[in-house]
Amino acid sequence: MPLDLETLDTAPDATYNRVMLKISGEALMGDQGFGLHPPTVQRIAREVKSVHDMGVEICMVIGGGNIFRGLSGAAQGMERTTADYMGMLATVMNALAMQSALEDLGVFCRVISAIPMDQVCEPYIRRRAVRHLEKKRVCIFAAGTGNPYFTTDTAATLRANEMGCEVIFKGTKVDGVYDKDPEKHADAQRYDAVSFDDVLAKRLGVMDASAIALARDNNLPIIVFSLDEPGGFRGILAGEGTYTKVQD
Ligand code: UDP
Repeated sequence: MPLDLETLDTAPDATYNRVMLKISGEALMGDQGFGLHPPTVQRIAREVKSVHDMGVEICMVIGGGNIFRGLSGAAQGMERTTADYMGMLATVMNALAMQSALEDLGVFCRVISAIPMDQVCEPYIRRRAVRHLEKKRVCIFAAGTGNPYFTTDTAATLRANEMGCEVIFKGTKVDGVYDKDPEKHADAQRYDAVSFDDVLAKRLGVMDASAIALARDNNLPIIVFSLDEPGGFRGILAGEGTYTKVQD
């Protein structure tokens, strides 16, 4: 039975103290196929708050694919790095939308951009971001790594390492990593655990290869779980639920 986040008053002990939550931009678009769907943003913000209420320090990286992807722009004839900068700007819009939704719920939050834009959000300064986390502010890292030719999966892994996160939570539409696409194949099998090397060798599509290699080389596990399952994020932190853990 799904957890009712509104009626939960006691917070179970969390299995991790500091985590990175990576979601794609597409997670914010609801069924509309493009852009931001405020009720969906609010729903995810409630999931984040329910984990924040457990005392967990939360970093977030949100992609930009619901607005713009560099590769799609380049495929249509745009210069690649310009298209990638547009993708990075898209992630800032998503981060601001999430900040607004979290603050509406009373969760203090900072958007921290890899590309300085002082009127809009904070620039990335590692020690400052760590201090925000210690003060229990949710830190949303925007503008990816600040470099073209990367993705927000790599940005999430980079920032998770820099912030000393114990794990990356990768929120997706399904409850883990499968041997084949579970939306296309009824007999697809979910892995409870899988190694980084298997993810790379079998191209399991958890995250792009640079992100997986960076997580592997720094011993940073990745938990792939469903963001569509109400209470799922909190449940895993309380030691329940189904997911796949990617580790060595
Ligand atoms: N991007 C980039 N450098 C980064 C992160 C992102 O150039 O460090 C650009 C890239 O064009 C990418 C876009 O931003 O396509 C949006 O990010 P991503 O595709 O990772 O978003 P998601 O698929 O998670 O929604």
